Amino acid sequence: MTTTPAVLILLGPPGAGKGTQARMLEEKFGLVQLSTGDLLRAAVAAGTEAGKKAKAVMEAGALVSDDIVLAILRDRMAEPDVAKGVILDGFPRTAAQASALDSLLAESGQKINAAISLEVEDDAMVERVSGRYTCAECGEGYHDTFKVPEKAGVCDKCGSTEFKRRADDNAETVRSRLEAYHAQTAPLIDYYAAKGVLKRIDAMGEIEAVAAALDSIVKASTA
Ligand code: ADP
Ligand code: ADP
Ligand code: ZN
Repeated sequence: MTTTPAVLILLGPPGAGKGTQARMLEEKFGLVQLSTGDLLRAAVAAGTEAGKKAKAVMEAGALVSDDIVLAILRDRMAEPDVAKGVILDGFPRTAAQASALDSLLAESGQKINAAISLEVEDDAMVERVSGRYTCAECGEGYHDTFKVPEKAGVCDKCGSTEFKRRADDNAETVRSRLEAYHAQTAPLIDYYAAKGVLKRIDAMGEIEAVAAALDSIVKASTA
């Protein structure tokens, strides 16, 4: 590990496996997953001003404004646990967010170790997102077909029997989210390639195969 905290970015469309892989990296490398989607859903649930503005936008599958997302991210980056190093999951998603991240990192003398693009086919995304659910207690992610709990109806990690599905995880909304990805987020792949930090992973394989590819990249980029 470097002396300054590691900064890893996971890029990829909805359903690519960013959240699943980020949680695995947290456990393996002691990094902190920072998901703007999770932070926004928490703001919506708490009924904060930002959450009230974000709710309808998220339900429509569009991107929440840069101002709101950046304010939420800055607050989270100011918490002490991020000193262990972060995995940015679902951020940045626009060119403005990417340049704001550069400025934020420059202030604290940090740099991006790697921006890892999880590459998947659009057609697979609808199935991945439509079958997604999570443990209501610990947030562990599951899938109706691709990742079922060892014991039906019981979370592997915490034993809870309560699960939830996201309001925006339906076939219609995922199409809008994929469009937003291609129009606003995919251009960041070139942005990070130009900086020399881009890594690409074939994320069509099984969860463990993707995790193995990711492991080598994380080890090499934080060595
Ligand atoms: P993202 O955070 O990129 O939107 P998730 O990690 O939540 O994606 O994964 C979306 C859904 O697909 C989840 O239900 C997850 O269990 C499942 N999933 C994740 N990675 C894979 C994979 N490599 N193969 C099949 N299903 C996967
Ligand atoms: P997924 O990985 O499945 O696309 P996320 O949980 O990352 O889901 O995001 C869910 C929704 O939250 C997005 O469709 C968008 O409305 C909003 N969102 C999350 N992160 C950002 C971001 N960095 N910028 C703008 N909107 C965001
Ligand atoms: Zn659980």
